[in-house]
Amino acid sequence: EPPEPSGSFHEGTDNSNRVGGELLCVVRALLKKIKRRVLVGDKVLVGSIDWVDRRGMIENVFRRDSEILDPPVANVDHLVVLFSMDQPKIDPFALTRFLVEAESTGISLTLALNKSELVDEESLETWKIRLRKWGYEPIFCSVESKHELDTLQFTLREQTSVIVGPSGVGKSSLINALRSHKPLLGATEGDNWFDSVLGSKWFEDQRVGEVSTKSGKGKHTTRNVSLLPLSGGGYLADTPGFSQPSLMKVTKQSLAEYFPEIRRMLEDSEPKKCTFNDCLHVGEPGCVVNVDWERYPYYFQLLDEIRIREEFQLRTI
Ligand code: GDP
Ligand code: ZN
Repeated sequence: EPPEPSGSFHEGTDNSNRVGGELLCVVRALLKKIKRRVLVGDKVLVGSIDWVDRRGMIENVFRRDSEILDPPVANVDHLVVLFSMDQPKIDPFALTRFLVEAESTGISLTLALNKSELVDEESLETWKIRLRKWGYEPIFCSVESKHELDTLQFTLREQTSVIVGPSGVGKSSLINALRSHKPLLGATEGDNWFDSVLGSKWFEDQRVGEVSTKSGKGKHTTRNVSLLPLSGGGYLADTPGFSQPSLMKVTKQSLAEYFPEIRRMLEDSEPKKCTFNDCLHVGEPGCVVNVDWERYPYYFQLLDEIRIREEFQLRTI
């Protein structure tokens, strides 16, 4: 529960130990019984607070606006799909899979392309035009040269974000860079109420590897996901997300919604609609979506993949 703003405190009482409160909490047994997991990013109701020992009990979890599983974070309001211009180069089909997986969460997304300093202007321009046709406005950035980190920081302000993308594109580097990037003039410096909690030493400690006392040699690192307060305001998960998009939540029918090209063609043809309500837009008679666009073969391929999965699931039920 957010601590009351300091302005509302009664004069003469010592509320200093409550401001920016940080509490070590246990989860109420009943919540565990009904399998309500408490995730990082959850808004919770805390009761039985002991202000001296700074302990409390999580009594309930508020309804989530969103939830992602990899990494497990609740109330994420922004996804950054990160690829790189070189080392590794953009694989358009792999990028499409990531974009589809990101679109399927319903969370707003930004497409960023890192290592922009490795390629020439012409290459950036070509990709920009190409990706615009896909329906995305990419941010070309570079952790190396700090190019466009301001823009990214501005995009992520006041939001809880997760960076997703394949390995090697610079996700960890970008998380670190954004964490300490100098805020733009006028940007708020982390004024969210749980700043002090999430940026606290207690959270830092959770990521430190522990030496196993039994063997004395094995180093066991707890991989807890934490939300890092950004210098420009907002939070960023310290763990990158879905490195292997499974598309498990995508159905044959919903796939089309995750392609901006198809969305646009459906909008443009309004009020005219496809003849069949369950049209998959693969050349059915009376379909208002044409097949003359770059990613159509990817759409077709993913549709096939999902069809096979759905048939397999039916057979195994
Ligand atoms: P991750 O697997 O996506 O987390 O990628 P890493 O952050 O581990 O970065 C992979 C490699 O790319 C590392 O060697 C980084 O130093 C390098 N790298 C990250 N950002 C940039 C960049 O903007 N330009 C260049 N040239 N290399 C980068
Ligand atoms: Zn259609």
